[in-house]
Amino acid sequence: MDIIAEIKTIAKEDPNRPAFVFRREQISYGELWKRSCRLALHLLGEGLDPKQPVPVYGHKSVWMPVCFLACSLSGHTYVPMDVNMPNGRITDIVDAVASPLVLATEEMAEIRGAHQMNRQVLEEICLGDARPAGEDISWPGLAADDIHYMIFTSGSTGKPKGVKVTHANLNAYLSWSPSLVEGRRGIFLNQAPFSFDLSVMDTYTGLATGSTVVCLDRDLIRDVTSAVEFIRQNGVHYWVSTPSFADLAMGEACFDAKRLPELSHFLFCGEPLTPRTVRSLRERFPDARIINTYGPTETTVCVTAAEITDEILKTESLLPVGYAKPGTEVYAADAEGRRLPGGQVGELIINGDTVAAGYYHNDKQTAEHFFRDEEGIASYRTGDMGYVRKDGMVYCSGRADGQVKLHGYRIELGDIEKNLLTLEGVDGAVVLPKLRDGVVHSLAALVLQKEGWDSSYARRKYIRQSLGERVPSYMVPKKVVLLNAFPMTMNGKLDRKALEELI
Ligand code: AMP
Repeated sequence: MDIIAEIKTIAKEDPNRPAFVFRREQISYGELWKRSCRLALHLLGEGLDPKQPVPVYGHKSVWMPVCFLACSLSGHTYVPMDVNMPNGRITDIVDAVASPLVLATEEMAEIRGAHQMNRQVLEEICLGDARPAGEDISWPGLAADDIHYMIFTSGSTGKPKGVKVTHANLNAYLSWSPSLVEGRRGIFLNQAPFSFDLSVMDTYTGLATGSTVVCLDRDLIRDVTSAVEFIRQNGVHYWVSTPSFADLAMGEACFDAKRLPELSHFLFCGEPLTPRTVRSLRERFPDARIINTYGPTETTVCVTAAEITDEILKTESLLPVGYAKPGTEVYAADAEGRRLPGGQVGELIINGDTVAAGYYHNDKQTAEHFFRDEEGIASYRTGDMGYVRKDGMVYCSGRADGQVKLHGYRIELGDIEKNLLTLEGVDGAVVLPKLRDGVVHSLAALVLQKEGWDSSYARRKYIRQSLGERVPSYMVPKKVVLLNAFPMTMNGKLDRKALEELI
């Protein structure tokens, strides 16, 4: 699989086939290829260092994939940045890659030292009279070890870390990901911003299968009724999102198979998928397949997948994240990095052909997380706790750092959360430690309460009391905050930072 060659083939054989649909625009494979070639030729004349990473700023528009592809054709790594990112983070990224050029498909704040090529200029280059010809020249392109894209994830140091995903990583991922939809061509939903690697699942699996990718912008994501209508109009088959976004959609009564009869697959990644979400989806889409996938950005989108069947739902309270894809191994390791036997909980280690090339200009963090195993295979320490059943099924049970000590007691926050979930009227729960001088001094529970319930003192007292009946008293959070909805990040994940501000 070479994704660039695939796109070119479709562009030549079936140029009018739609590649991306946005709210007001769409672009065919032929047009995507043409514009990308013109921009690539222009980039080659910009005098950039051959391997210079190029930040691409914007949101959901045809110009984003055009810029990505143009970077790949001209041999540059692209670095997606979304309009939802705060300016400080954007400056950090542009500084980190020391790029003299930013492809700005939306208006953006000036950044010292970086020249912006804005949408008007992009249009002139790709659509204007003076546009360069040259679709069939021999492009420098990307070698297997070149960095295809770099996605910046939040780092514990407060500065984002650039994950270097190589061209070979992406191609290896795409040799497998079409199997999530039985290799079929169809209509994919894109919900995640391009700066979140979940978007790679829909965007590139879509392109690799000659499919059409239908993109939701942030206004549609906020207005679920219109989003559902947009999805219906476009006949989406393959839903790709975090479970949280599906939960949000289920707030709409019209989100069901009657309204969306074409929807055949739900592909989830990025955070735990709960039995509650699967059960609700089952009720609304009895015939759709629900697939849980798992993996960090550092191992290219996701490396495991399992269909969550009724059988699994009936028998498992922690849903599995699936079997490793071919070319990948997932195992649990003890604190010394030794492989644990099947079923024993340890840190999940991922090795294989989609393990990224480390963090950009960050040898220390790279050495902490990436290593070569005894056979020389690229490996990554995930920081996730979990276990692998003897038959290879992987379970992810939380973060390695989900354990706290409170007054000497060892407590798993997930333990409290699970117990809270058993209480009547509790629809979701997150427990956070409150720190003083870096030491945990109490716990707080943020509880998603059943619709229509009030958040009175009596209700909070009931929760603490009932929980006290299930766990030792030192595990009962001192503070209980009742919420009607959990805050979410721009990537559609639970916003833990915003939750922390509530306690
Ligand atoms: P990101 O790099 O933003 O995709 O985040 C990766 C992390 O999200 C993983 O290391 C896990 O902690 C979590 N994660 C991703 N997928 C799942 C899943 N299916 N179940 C549980 N946690 C997940």
